[in-house]
Amino acid sequence: MERLQKVMAKAGVDSRRKCEDIIEAGRVMVNGNIVTELGTKVDPEQDKILVDGEEIEKEKKVYILLNKPAGFITTVDDPKDRRTVMDLINVKQRVYPVGRLDRDTEGLLLLTNDGDVSYALTHPSHKIGKKYLATVEGVPNDNKLESLERGIKLSDGWTAPAETELVMNFNNKAIVSITIHEGRNRQVKRMFKAIGNPVEELKRMKIGPLSLDDELKAGEYRYLNKNEIQQLK
Ligand code: URA
Repeated sequence: MERLQKVMAKAGVDSRRKCEDIIEAGRVMVNGNIVTELGTKVDPEQDKILVDGEEIEKEKKVYILLNKPAGFITTVDDPKDRRTVMDLINVKQRVYPVGRLDRDTEGLLLLTNDGDVSYALTHPSHKIGKKYLATVEGVPNDNKLESLERGIKLSDGWTAPAETELVMNFNNKAIVSITIHEGRNRQVKRMFKAIGNPVEELKRMKIGPLSLDDELKAGEYRYLNKNEIQQLK
């Protein structure tokens, strides 16, 4: 249940403040009754809301897959006015990032106004896999990678089992693919630091059933298709 003025504002009737005026003026009907009380809670999916006799549009759920470039902060609003991921997208609906990537991390970031999907992907108990490609200093040997796979002690406790694979090495650096099933702050960087191979670059390739496409350049985004949305539910 949500406040009536919020539901109206989301549906694009007007700003929340103006919607309050519209309610108080007796221009809004909910399921056939005129409502003038500002705190009234409604179910945006079920209730029939009319303004001046016309039904409002329900907010459409949107799902955006962004290939985040380095240099952008994952937040809706930065108090220091730095560049955020919201500067990269242009959509009518009010969407929010699902989880976060560090400012210098690139790759797959989902943005949506679907709170249920966001919860399902980020709640720790769901253990959704997130796959990253990490470019690290030095070349970690099998023992080190196995320790990451088993779990390693960080300042905030042991990590859960992870999957790793050495993809390639060059000039005393390596690219390692790692899939973790948690979402602690700066977790991948802290894990590699703990084995003595600090991360130089990090890119997220997958979250659960979603993968980054090759065609999507850094800074570009696309809407998920029906099939992808289905897999998130
Ligand atoms: N782990 C990190 O260290 N940084 C990220 O941005 C994501 C996962």
